[in-house]
Amino acid sequence: AKGAGRNRFSFFTPALQTAARERAQLMSDLRTALVAQEFRVVYQPIVELATGSIHKAEALVRWQHPTRGLISPAAFIPVAESSGLIVELGEWVFVQAARQVKHWRETLHPQFQISVNKSPVQFENPNLQHVPWIEQLDQLGLPGESMVVEITEGLLLSSSDGVLDQLLSLRDDGINVSLDDFGTGYSSLSYLQRFDIDFVKIDQSFVRQLVAGSTDLALCQAIIAMAHALGMKVIAEGVETALQRDLLKAAGCDFGQGYLFSRPVAAQEFEALFTQTTSN
Ligand code: C2E
Ligand code: CA
Ligand code: CA
Ligand code: CA
Repeated sequence: AKGAGRNRFSFFTPALQTAARERAQLMSDLRTALVAQEFRVVYQPIVELATGSIHKAEALVRWQHPTRGLISPAAFIPVAESSGLIVELGEWVFVQAARQVKHWRETLHPQFQISVNKSPVQFENPNLQHVPWIEQLDQLGLPGESMVVEITEGLLLSSSDGVLDQLLSLRDDGINVSLDDFGTGYSSLSYLQRFDIDFVKIDQSFVRQLVAGSTDLALCQAIIAMAHALGMKVIAEGVETALQRDLLKAAGCDFGQGYLFSRPVAAQEFEALFTQTTSN
Protein backbone atom coordinates (compact mmCIF):
# COMPACT_ATOMS: atom_id res chain seq x y z
CA ALA A 1 0.00 0.00 0.00
CA LYS A 2 2.87 2.29 0.85
CA GLY A 3 4.49 1.69 -2.53
CA ALA A 4 1.26 2.42 -4.37
CA GLY A 5 0.92 5.73 -2.54
CA ARG A 6 4.37 6.78 -3.62
CA ASN A 7 3.73 5.93 -7.24
CA ARG A 8 0.49 7.84 -7.26
CA PHE A 9 2.31 10.99 -6.22
CA SER A 10 5.54 10.63 -8.12
CA PHE A 11 3.56 10.42 -11.39
CA PHE A 12 2.74 14.11 -11.01
CA THR A 13 5.78 15.25 -9.08
CA PRO A 14 8.51 17.24 -10.80
CA ALA A 15 11.91 15.57 -10.64
CA LEU A 16 13.35 18.20 -8.34
CA GLN A 17 10.66 17.70 -5.76
CA THR A 18 11.20 13.96 -5.88
CA ALA A 19 14.90 14.49 -5.37
CA ALA A 20 14.21 16.71 -2.37
CA ARG A 21 11.91 14.09 -0.86
CA GLU A 22 14.47 11.32 -1.47
CA ARG A 23 17.07 13.43 0.27
CA ALA A 24 14.83 14.03 3.28
CA GLN A 25 14.17 10.28 3.45
CA LEU A 26 17.88 9.53 3.20
CA MET A 27 18.56 12.00 5.98
CA SER A 28 16.06 10.40 8.32
CA ASP A 29 17.32 6.90 7.42
CA LEU A 30 20.87 8.05 8.15
CA ARG A 31 19.89 9.15 11.61
CA THR A 32 18.82 5.65 12.58
CA ALA A 33 21.55 3.84 10.65
CA LEU A 34 24.27 4.38 13.25
CA VAL A 35 22.16 2.94 16.03
CA ALA A 36 20.97 0.10 13.79
CA GLN A 37 24.62 -0.70 12.96
CA GLU A 38 24.15 -0.47 9.23
CA PHE A 39 27.56 1.07 8.59
CA ARG A 40 30.77 -0.82 8.12
CA VAL A 41 34.31 0.10 7.30
CA VAL A 42 36.30 -1.34 4.42
CA TYR A 43 40.03 -0.96 3.88
CA GLN A 44 41.98 -0.34 0.70
CA PRO A 45 45.70 -1.09 0.67
CA ILE A 46 48.19 1.68 -0.06
CA VAL A 47 51.18 -0.04 -1.62
CA GLU A 48 54.79 1.11 -1.42
CA LEU A 49 55.74 1.13 -5.11
CA ALA A 50 59.48 0.52 -4.74
CA THR A 51 59.03 -2.63 -2.63
CA GLY A 52 55.45 -3.78 -3.08
CA SER A 53 55.12 -3.68 0.69
CA ILE A 54 51.72 -2.97 2.28
CA HIS A 55 51.77 -1.15 5.58
CA LYS A 56 49.14 1.49 4.97
CA ALA A 57 45.44 1.43 4.22
CA GLU A 58 42.61 3.90 3.78
CA ALA A 59 39.43 3.36 5.79
CA LEU A 60 36.27 3.94 3.72
CA VAL A 61 32.75 3.78 5.09
CA ARG A 62 29.95 1.68 3.59
CA TRP A 63 26.22 1.81 4.27
CA GLN A 64 24.23 -1.37 4.02
CA HIS A 65 20.71 0.05 3.80
CA PRO A 66 18.01 -2.44 4.91
CA THR A 67 15.90 -2.04 1.77
CA ARG A 68 18.04 -0.18 -0.76
CA GLY A 69 21.15 -2.31 -0.40
CA LEU A 70 24.65 -0.90 -0.48
CA ILE A 71 24.67 2.89 -0.81
CA SER A 72 27.80 4.64 -2.06
CA PRO A 73 29.44 7.22 0.22
CA ALA A 74 29.29 9.64 -2.71
CA ALA A 75 25.51 9.53 -2.24
CA PHE A 76 25.24 9.75 1.54
CA ILE A 77 28.34 11.63 2.79
CA PRO A 78 27.03 14.98 1.43
CA VAL A 79 23.71 14.34 3.19
CA ALA A 80 25.50 13.38 6.40
CA GLU A 81 27.52 16.59 6.08
CA SER A 82 24.53 18.87 5.61
CA SER A 83 22.67 17.26 8.50
CA GLY A 84 25.71 17.37 10.79
CA LEU A 85 25.56 13.60 11.29
CA ILE A 86 29.00 13.32 9.73
CA VAL A 87 30.43 14.30 13.12
CA GLU A 88 29.03 11.16 14.78
CA LEU A 89 29.73 8.99 11.76
CA GLY A 90 33.28 10.29 11.41
CA GLU A 91 34.01 9.56 15.07
CA TRP A 92 32.62 6.06 14.66
CA VAL A 93 34.81 5.38 11.60
CA PHE A 94 37.83 6.69 13.51
CA VAL A 95 37.22 4.33 16.44
CA GLN A 96 36.80 1.32 14.12
CA ALA A 97 39.99 2.23 12.25
CA ALA A 98 41.96 2.79 15.47
CA ARG A 99 41.01 -0.67 16.79
CA GLN A 100 41.90 -2.15 13.43
CA VAL A 101 45.31 -0.48 13.28
CA LYS A 102 46.10 -1.75 16.76
CA HIS A 103 45.41 -5.29 15.61
CA TRP A 104 47.34 -4.90 12.36
CA ARG A 105 50.35 -3.36 14.12
CA GLU A 106 50.44 -6.50 16.24
CA THR A 107 49.81 -9.01 13.46
CA LEU A 108 50.79 -7.52 10.08
CA HIS A 109 53.36 -4.75 10.36
CA PRO A 110 54.64 -2.82 13.43
CA GLN A 111 54.42 0.52 11.60
CA PHE A 112 51.01 -0.04 10.05
CA GLN A 113 49.10 3.20 9.41
CA ILE A 114 45.42 3.69 8.65
CA SER A 115 44.09 6.89 7.15
CA VAL A 116 40.59 8.21 7.75
CA ASN A 117 38.79 10.93 5.85
CA LYS A 118 37.83 13.96 7.90
CA SER A 119 35.17 16.24 6.49
CA PRO A 120 35.48 20.04 6.87
CA VAL A 121 32.18 19.85 8.76
CA GLN A 122 33.93 17.84 11.48
CA PHE A 123 36.46 20.65 11.86
CA GLU A 124 33.70 23.27 12.02
CA ASN A 125 32.17 21.90 15.21
CA PRO A 126 35.04 21.30 17.62
CA ASN A 127 32.76 21.63 20.66
CA LEU A 128 30.64 18.73 19.42
CA GLN A 129 33.77 16.63 19.40
CA HIS A 130 34.08 13.58 21.57
CA VAL A 131 37.25 12.48 23.30
CA PRO A 132 40.26 13.88 21.38
CA TRP A 133 41.73 11.38 18.93
CA ILE A 134 45.09 11.27 20.65
CA GLU A 135 43.45 10.31 23.96
CA GLN A 136 41.57 7.52 22.25
CA LEU A 137 44.82 6.30 20.70
CA ASP A 138 46.56 6.57 24.09
CA GLN A 139 43.92 4.35 25.60
CA LEU A 140 44.65 1.74 22.96
CA GLY A 141 48.40 2.08 23.57
CA LEU A 142 48.91 3.54 20.08
CA PRO A 143 51.19 6.42 19.02
CA GLY A 144 49.75 9.32 17.02
CA GLU A 145 51.54 8.21 13.88
CA SER A 146 49.45 5.06 13.66
CA MET A 147 46.75 7.23 12.12
CA VAL A 148 46.59 9.60 9.17
CA VAL A 149 43.89 12.20 8.67
CA GLU A 150 42.89 12.85 5.04
CA ILE A 151 41.75 16.38 4.32
CA THR A 152 41.03 18.30 1.13
CA GLU A 153 42.63 21.58 0.19
CA GLY A 154 39.32 23.43 0.55
CA LEU A 155 39.78 23.08 4.29
CA LEU A 156 43.10 24.88 4.15
CA LEU A 157 41.88 27.64 1.85
CA SER A 158 38.68 28.53 3.69
CA SER A 159 40.35 28.07 6.99
CA SER A 160 39.36 29.94 10.09
CA ASP A 161 41.79 30.03 13.02
CA GLY A 162 39.79 27.32 14.79
CA VAL A 163 40.23 24.89 11.91
CA LEU A 164 43.95 25.56 11.67
CA ASP A 165 44.42 25.14 15.42
CA GLN A 166 42.76 21.74 15.27
CA LEU A 167 44.89 20.65 12.36
CA LEU A 168 48.04 21.81 14.13
CA SER A 169 47.07 20.02 17.31
CA LEU A 170 46.53 16.76 15.41
CA ARG A 171 50.03 17.26 13.99
CA ASP A 172 51.48 18.04 17.43
CA ASP A 173 50.01 14.74 18.61
CA GLY A 174 51.98 12.98 15.88
CA ILE A 175 48.96 12.16 13.71
CA ASN A 176 49.98 12.39 10.04
CA VAL A 177 48.16 14.61 7.57
CA SER A 178 47.39 13.62 4.02
CA LEU A 179 46.11 15.99 1.35
CA ASP A 180 43.39 14.21 -0.65
CA ASP A 181 42.41 14.74 -4.30
CA PHE A 182 45.41 16.94 -5.03
CA GLY A 183 45.31 18.73 -8.36
CA THR A 184 41.55 19.26 -8.43
CA GLY A 185 41.70 22.55 -6.49
CA TYR A 186 43.49 25.77 -7.14
CA SER A 187 46.32 25.88 -4.67
CA SER A 188 50.01 25.26 -5.24
CA LEU A 189 52.03 22.78 -3.25
CA SER A 190 54.31 25.56 -2.05
CA TYR A 191 51.29 27.30 -0.52
CA LEU A 192 50.13 24.07 1.10
CA GLN A 193 53.58 23.33 2.46
CA ARG A 194 53.10 25.79 5.34
CA PHE A 195 50.57 23.36 6.83
CA ASP A 196 53.26 20.72 7.27
CA ILE A 197 51.53 17.99 5.34
CA ASP A 198 53.02 14.48 5.28
CA PHE A 199 51.37 12.97 2.20
CA VAL A 200 49.95 14.32 -1.03
CA LYS A 201 47.45 12.14 -2.85
CA ILE A 202 47.39 12.72 -6.60
CA ASP A 203 43.76 12.69 -7.69
CA GLN A 204 42.58 9.76 -9.78
CA SER A 205 41.68 12.04 -12.69
CA PHE A 206 45.42 12.50 -13.38
CA VAL A 207 46.15 8.79 -13.18
CA ARG A 208 43.28 7.53 -15.33
CA GLN A 209 44.79 8.35 -18.73
CA LEU A 210 48.42 8.03 -17.80
CA VAL A 211 50.55 6.98 -20.76
CA ALA A 212 54.16 7.64 -21.71
CA GLY A 213 54.61 11.15 -23.05
CA SER A 214 51.19 12.40 -21.89
CA THR A 215 50.49 15.75 -20.25
CA ASP A 216 49.12 13.86 -17.29
CA LEU A 217 52.44 12.10 -16.85
CA ALA A 218 54.26 15.45 -16.96
CA LEU A 219 51.85 16.73 -14.32
CA CYS A 220 52.39 13.71 -12.08
CA GLN A 221 56.16 14.07 -12.46
CA ALA A 222 55.97 17.75 -11.52
CA ILE A 223 53.78 17.08 -8.47
CA ILE A 224 56.11 14.29 -7.31
CA ALA A 225 59.27 16.40 -7.76
CA MET A 226 57.81 19.38 -5.95
CA ALA A 227 56.28 17.32 -3.15
CA HIS A 228 59.62 15.62 -2.55
CA ALA A 229 61.47 18.94 -2.58
CA LEU A 230 59.06 20.10 0.12
CA GLY A 231 59.52 16.96 2.22
CA MET A 232 56.21 15.27 1.44
CA LYS A 233 55.56 11.73 0.25
CA VAL A 234 53.27 11.07 -2.70
CA ILE A 235 50.40 8.59 -3.03
CA ALA A 236 48.78 8.08 -6.45
CA GLU A 237 45.08 7.25 -6.33
CA GLY A 238 43.05 5.22 -8.80
CA VAL A 239 45.88 3.01 -10.06
CA GLU A 240 44.10 0.43 -12.19
CA THR A 241 46.72 -0.86 -14.63
CA ALA A 242 50.27 -2.19 -14.46
CA LEU A 243 51.29 0.51 -16.95
CA GLN A 244 50.06 3.28 -14.65
CA ARG A 245 51.90 1.68 -11.75
CA ASP A 246 55.12 1.35 -13.74
CA LEU A 247 55.03 4.94 -15.00
CA LEU A 248 54.35 6.26 -11.49
CA LYS A 249 57.06 4.09 -10.01
CA ALA A 250 59.54 5.30 -12.62
CA ALA A 251 58.52 8.88 -11.82
CA GLY A 252 59.50 8.25 -8.20
CA CYS A 253 55.98 8.14 -6.77
CA ASP A 254 56.16 6.63 -3.26
CA PHE A 255 52.82 4.85 -2.94
CA GLY A 256 49.96 3.63 -5.10
CA GLN A 257 46.34 2.90 -4.28
CA GLY A 258 43.78 1.46 -6.65
CA TYR A 259 41.91 -1.50 -8.09
CA LEU A 260 45.15 -2.91 -9.58
CA PHE A 261 46.20 -3.80 -6.04
CA SER A 262 42.76 -4.27 -4.51
CA ARG A 263 39.33 -2.75 -4.14
CA PRO A 264 38.43 -1.61 -0.63
CA VAL A 265 37.69 -4.83 1.28
CA ALA A 266 36.53 -6.03 4.69
CA ALA A 267 39.25 -6.42 7.33
CA GLN A 268 39.36 -10.20 7.05
CA GLU A 269 39.78 -10.10 3.30
CA PHE A 270 42.50 -7.47 3.73
CA GLU A 271 44.43 -9.85 5.97
CA ALA A 272 44.21 -12.62 3.39
CA LEU A 273 45.45 -10.22 0.72
CA PHE A 274 48.33 -9.12 2.94
CA THR A 275 49.41 -12.69 3.61
CA GLN A 276 49.23 -13.50 -0.10
CA THR A 277 51.31 -10.46 -1.09
CA THR A 278 54.01 -10.94 1.54
CA SER A 279 54.43 -14.66 0.96
CA ASN A 280 55.43 -14.44 -2.68
P1 C2E B 1 38.19 9.44 -1.59
O1 C2E B 1 38.58 9.79 -0.19
O2 C2E B 1 38.90 10.16 -2.69
O3 C2E B 1 38.39 7.87 -1.69
C1 C2E B 1 38.83 7.19 -2.85
C2 C2E B 1 37.67 6.64 -3.64
O4 C2E B 1 38.17 6.08 -4.85
C3 C2E B 1 36.95 5.49 -2.92
O5 C2E B 1 35.57 5.57 -3.28
C4 C2E B 1 37.60 4.26 -3.57
O6 C2E B 1 36.80 3.11 -3.50
C5 C2E B 1 37.77 4.73 -4.98
N1 C2E B 1 38.83 4.02 -5.68
C6 C2E B 1 39.93 3.44 -5.16
N2 C2E B 1 40.70 2.89 -6.12
C7 C2E B 1 40.08 3.13 -7.29
C8 C2E B 1 40.39 2.80 -8.66
O7 C2E B 1 41.40 2.18 -8.99
N3 C2E B 1 39.50 3.23 -9.62
C9 C2E B 1 38.39 3.92 -9.29
N4 C2E B 1 37.58 4.29 -10.29
N5 C2E B 1 38.06 4.24 -8.01
C10 C2E B 1 38.90 3.86 -7.03
P2 C2E B 1 34.42 5.40 -2.20
O8 C2E B 1 34.81 4.38 -1.17
O9 C2E B 1 33.16 5.18 -2.96
O10 C2E B 1 34.39 6.80 -1.48
C11 C2E B 1 34.03 7.96 -2.18
C12 C2E B 1 34.30 9.19 -1.36
O11 C2E B 1 33.45 9.24 -0.19
C13 C2E B 1 35.72 9.24 -0.80
O12 C2E B 1 36.61 9.69 -1.79
C14 C2E B 1 35.54 10.21 0.35
O13 C2E B 1 35.55 11.54 -0.11
C15 C2E B 1 34.14 9.87 0.83
N6 C2E B 1 34.24 8.98 2.01
C16 C2E B 1 34.33 7.64 2.09
N7 C2E B 1 34.41 7.21 3.36
C17 C2E B 1 34.41 8.33 4.14
C18 C2E B 1 34.45 8.58 5.56
O14 C2E B 1 34.57 7.67 6.41
N8 C2E B 1 34.39 9.89 5.96
C19 C2E B 1 34.29 10.93 5.07
N9 C2E B 1 34.23 12.18 5.55
N10 C2E B 1 34.23 10.73 3.74
C20 C2E B 1 34.29 9.45 3.28
CA1 CA C 1 40.46 9.88 0.89
CA1 CA D 1 40.85 10.95 -3.11
CA1 CA E 1 56.22 16.91 7.23
